[in-house]
Amino acid sequence: MSGKAYDVIIVGGGHAGCEAAAAAARLGVSTALVTHKRATIGEMSCNPAIGGLGKGHLVREIDALDGLMGRVADAAGIQFRVLNRRKGPAVRGPRAQADRALYRAAMQKAIAEQPNLEVIEGEVDDLIVDHGRVEGVALLDGRTFGTRAVVLTTGTFLRGLIHRGEETTPAGRLGEKPVLGLSKRLEALGLQLGRLKTGTPARLDGTSIDFSMLEAQPGDEPPEPFSSLTETITNRQVMCHVTRTTAETHRIIADNIHRSAMYSGRIQSRGPRYCPSIEDKIVRFADRDSHQIFLEPEGLDDPTIYPNGLSTSLPADVQEAFLRSMPGLADVRIVKLGYAIEYDHVDPRELLPTLALRRLPGLYLAGQINGTTGYEEAAAQGLIAGANAALAVSDRAPLMLSRTASYIGVMIDDLVTRGVSEPYRMFTSRAEFRLHLRSDNADQRLTTLGVETGLVGPVRADHYAKKARRLVAGRALLETSVTTPSEARATGLAVNADGQKRTAFELLSYPDIAAEDLLRRWPDLHVIAPETMAQLAVDAQYAVYVDRQRADIEAVRRDEAIAIPDWVDYAAISGLSIEIRQKLTARRPATLAQAQAIDGVTPAALTLILAIIKRGA
Ligand code: FAD
Repeated sequence: MSGKAYDVIIVGGGHAGCEAAAAAARLGVSTALVTHKRATIGEMSCNPAIGGLGKGHLVREIDALDGLMGRVADAAGIQFRVLNRRKGPAVRGPRAQADRALYRAAMQKAIAEQPNLEVIEGEVDDLIVDHGRVEGVALLDGRTFGTRAVVLTTGTFLRGLIHRGEETTPAGRLGEKPVLGLSKRLEALGLQLGRLKTGTPARLDGTSIDFSMLEAQPGDEPPEPFSSLTETITNRQVMCHVTRTTAETHRIIADNIHRSAMYSGRIQSRGPRYCPSIEDKIVRFADRDSHQIFLEPEGLDDPTIYPNGLSTSLPADVQEAFLRSMPGLADVRIVKLGYAIEYDHVDPRELLPTLALRRLPGLYLAGQINGTTGYEEAAAQGLIAGANAALAVSDRAPLMLSRTASYIGVMIDDLVTRGVSEPYRMFTSRAEFRLHLRSDNADQRLTTLGVETGLVGPVRADHYAKKARRLVAGRALLETSVTTPSEARATGLAVNADGQKRTAFELLSYPDIAAEDLLRRWPDLHVIAPETMAQLAVDAQYAVYVDRQRADIEAVRRDEAIAIPDWVDYAAISGLSIEIRQKLTARRPATLAQAQAIDGVTPAALTLILAIIKRGA
């Protein structure tokens, strides 16, 4: 080797690579992050936002394991909103609009400050493999570095090909070269590679938009941080705005659909179903006469606007024409055009739950290369792959998260057992135990494991230990505060006069009893701090449902061998998503177990099918 040797080498400084590098280094092994450019570490290739439904849960789990994404998003966030706030806590998704430059700067700072971690600028062109083991990496410029484990997090760069209208350009992202060498090596290892695609909208000059005619959308006040270590959000907060596609927008797109790279047949690969291009939406949802478009600022000192919902591979003239047909955008100027990109990914069924390749010990994969889409999905895999690479070279037991304890566990299990037929993104519906897997209790589910593994540093360990002590003491006090109905009713608590004694913890789960109401019956409960009480109230509210959900899931598991009769008509089962209906109708699984193995089929869908079978035609 011409260069130094490291215990672990991470290839790629995107969302997966940064978490992988930081996790390996936190575990105390010497780590190198090899990436094209230091300046693009932490780059957000598409929308300038972190979190959302399902994805926000992943960010909180990354944070619970002392990962970077939550803290970095807090440092860069310029609008915070908890989505689904009116629904139950289990499906609430924290989301933040980020200032791109601040996000990059905060991530680059976190990487630079991480002990045991060095950044090397360059492109990894090949892996050095000897006697069936990874021994190092070879860079395009001729340098070589030795190592005992490599984590590949190359994103959309493997044989990346950008499409816009009639033009195709080899590229990893707009303006960046594709990576060609590594795909050949992966194929030579006998791995199954596939092609997927994703797309991005044009970026707009905000000074050319008439915001006065558009609905403004403010964030939450006060903003709720992602990380349990962030006390307050200090950035100035901004407004987003909402516009809509019009009949004219739809006409322009429909008239030019043959010029879209997707519809002219130039792109064959599958794109993300839940992040479709605008031309896809016009074709697939032909009955809709308008689609909402969010105009999201890309930064505090940057007038660029990201029009969320308008990703496209139509040519430049069509992009400009359809944009100008929307309210507020009549005079809009385009800063950068939208495009679609096709890239190689590896069939994730080649991986173990540690994210190591079955065929080549010492090689780990994380992020878009595994067929996922999204920063959060990438970061979560990066953390697990980087941690496992470091644990393996230290001869320590691997870190594997279960489906019942985390969304990260759900995602990795889905990937390695079912594979992907389209870019995989996280949804709360993918989890069996979603009432337990809430974004509010990620630290209660994962931080102790993180401390035991060595992933969680002393600051978070201490912070969490104090919180856990407060929760345990608070819950003990609530569970030992017992009342009869008549005592409860005497203090105005609405409890059935059934003679049954109840604890304060049980009463906290009642929708019409608030924590303050309990103080009338038990003044001593004021020793429980308000934030501890708020968390215990959510825990109490869900305790009974979590048990019920566990029983439902066990029923499905028991009945896995049950045959699905021919008369089952998936199109007629209300409650199944279009995606699940289509997949089940096309594949006609013979048993519940076979239905479960189809990617995208959720635990809730299986419960519905089981109920239909039990009820009979
Ligand atoms: P990336 O963030 O792509 O990072 C890869 C990094 O690796 C880069 O820094 C690159 O320079 C480096 N690298 C690659 N190969 C090498 C090598 N051989 N040697 C050294 N360094 C290397 N996600 C969504 O959820 N919704 C969307 O609508 C969406 N649209 C997208 C549109 C476009 C055009 C693109 C490019 C991406 C889009 N994404 C979208 C995906 C999102 O950007 C990715 O899921 C996420 O960034 C993946 O993270 P990653 O770490 O796997 O890879």
